[in-house]
Amino acid sequence: MPDLQRLVWLLKFAGKCTTGHLEHVVVARQRMLRLSEALYADFFEDEKIDSDYEQRGILVVFKSEAAMQEYTRMNDYLKQFGMEARPFVGDALLQLEPALRDDVYGGWYHAIDSHLRPDHFLRGFKQILIRKGVAVEENCRLLNLHSDGAMITKAETSSGIYTADAYVLAAGAWAPEIFRKLKMKLPIQPGKGYSITMARPALCPKIPCIFEEKGVVATPWESGYRLGGTMEFSGLNIRIVAKRIQNLKDGAREYLKEPIGEPVHEEWVGMRPMVYDDLPVIDRAPGQRNLLVAAGHGMMGISLAPATGRLIADLVAGRDPHIDISPFSIKRFQ
Ligand SMILES: Cc1cc2nc3c(=O)[nH]c(=O)nc-3n(C[C@H](O)[C@H](O)[C@H](O)COP(=O)(O)OP(=O)(O)OC[C@H]3O[C@@H](n4cnc5c(N)ncnc54)[C@H](O)[C@@H]3O)c2cc1C
Repeated sequence: MPDLQRLVWLLKFAGKCTTGHLEHVVVARQRMLRLSEALYADFFEDEKIDSDYEQRGILVVFKSEAAMQEYTRMNDYLKQFGMEARPFVGDALLQLEPALRDDVYGGWYHAIDSHLRPDHFLRGFKQILIRKGVAVEENCRLLNLHSDGAMITKAETSSGIYTADAYVLAAGAWAPEIFRKLKMKLPIQPGKGYSITMARPALCPKIPCIFEEKGVVATPWESGYRLGGTMEFSGLNIRIVAKRIQNLKDGAREYLKEPIGEPVHEEWVGMRPMVYDDLPVIDRAPGQRNLLVAAGHGMMGISLAPATGRLIADLVAGRDPHIDISPFSIKRFQ
C-alpha cells in the first residue's frame, strides 16, 4: 500500500543528500561519537559486563579494485575528523584478516572502531541498573502520556498509571505513535534491518567486516558470530522476508571462506528509527516542559547511546549540555 507519510519522508531524505548536509551531519555526529567513546571506555573500566566489547577496528572490504579506489574519496574526507583508514590489498589484506576469500581485492582498516554484543550488553546493563536501585518494569506498554497543556501529568501504561517529575520518550521507531497522541509530529520512519546470529564458523573473522558492495556486515564475538544488513522501508512490522535473509548469506559468501556458522541461533529483524536528515532528536518536547525526547538514532543508536544518556541527564538536571545539542533540536522540523 502506498503510504503518503513515507513518500514525503523519502522526498525530504532525497533533499538532504547534499555535500553541505553531509558535512553538517558528520561534524555533529563526530562530537557525539567522541563523547560516547569516552563514556563507554569509562564504563567498561568500572563495570564488568560480559558483552564481548573489544576495540579491533572495522575493515571495509571490496571485491573490485574500482570500488576500493572509490573509497579513497571517502577516506580523504574522513581524514579531517581523524577517522581515516589504512588500505590493505592482496596478501597484506589476507594477513590482516585470514577469513577473507583469496579473490577479494582489498580493504580499508579503520583501527579506532570498537564493537560489542548488544543483547549481552543490555542484559548486563539491566542488572547493573537494578543493583543501583533503578526499577525496571518489563512487558509494560506505554499507552498514552496525559498533559495539562503545559506539562505531562501521568503516563498511562498496560501496568497502570505512573507519575514522575520528568518523562523521557525513548521509544525508537515507535516514538511518533506516542507523540501523535499529544498532537505533535516526529518524522521517524522504521528502517527494518535483518540479522542472523550463529555459532562461530571454524575460520571466523577476527575483525568486524563491512562488505560495502553488498551492504552486509559480519561481526565476530567470543560468544558467536552475526551477519547483518538491509534497509527496508515497509512500515512498523517484524515480518521476516526469507529472500532478505538469503541475501545476507549470499552476500557474505562472496567475501568469506566460511560465511556461515552452525547452528544458526536466531534470524531477527529490528526497526532502526530513521530521521530523514540522519540526526537524532535529543531535546525537550515543544509545549511540555517536563517531557524529553531521545529518539531517531537511525543506524547509530548503540554507538550514540552513552552520549545521548549524558545529554538527556544534563537536560533533566537543568545543566548546560556537555556538547552543542542544537543539531539535534526538535525545532528543526518546524
Ligand atoms: C540489523 C541492524 C544492525 C544495526 N547495527 C548497528 C551498529 O552496528 N551500530 C549502531 O550503533 N547501531 C546499529 N543499529 C541501530 C540500533 O539498533 C538503533 O539505532 C537503536 O536500537 C535505537 O535505539 P532506541 O533505544 O532509540 O530504539 P529501540 O532499540 O528500538 O528501543 C525502543 C524500545 O521502545 C519500546 N517501545 C516502543 N513503543 C513502546 C510503548 N508504547 N510502550 C513501551 N515500550 C515501547 C520498544 O519495544 C523498544 O524496546 C542496527 C540496527 C539494526 C536493525
